[in-house]
Amino acid sequence: MEPSRNPAQEEATGAHRLRPPRPSWDEYFMRIAHEVATRSTCPRLAVGAVIVRDKRILTTGYNGSPSGMPHCDDVGCLIRIVDGRESCQRTLHAEQNAIIQAAYHGVNIRGATLYCTHQPCLLCVKMIMNAGIEEVRYAAGYPDPLAMELAAEGGLRMSPFPAGEDGR
Ligand SMILES: [Zn+2]
Ligand SMILES: [Zn+2]
Repeated sequence: MEPSRNPAQEEATGAHRLRPPRPSWDEYFMRIAHEVATRSTCPRLAVGAVIVRDKRILTTGYNGSPSGMPHCDDVGCLIRIVDGRESCQRTLHAEQNAIIQAAYHGVNIRGATLYCTHQPCLLCVKMIMNAGIEEVRYAAGYPDPLAMELAAEGGLRMSPFPAGEDGR
């Protein structure tokens, strides 16, 4: 049960300022995705992903090397030119690691929503679709328009959060 509020007393003690406004579910999961991203081991970009269903977190992932292999932070990135732009080939992407974590622990992620600090790339979009994930919310854009086209064609809902953040 919620404790009864006494606005006059809160004003006197400053208690009303101690507690920030309660975040929406979208804000809450996106904030966690940003926290997850801080574990990234590639200095080029820190990406975090959280897979959610029924307002519960199922798995999380950040971009980094496969388990037991050296980190980009320690040995440098493994750069190759892919589709005309430099890309680090040492790491798995955050979305991939979140899906792999589901396989590792036997968690069903069908019908889930994926929150990600960045728009998923083409390969991640294809994996997200075949994992049965139905919706993606991303905080920042990523220069992969083909990923957006393929998602639209496949019926995967992808939208920025907060809305319009990346100019879409
Ligand atoms: Zn790297
Ligand atoms: Zn990706």
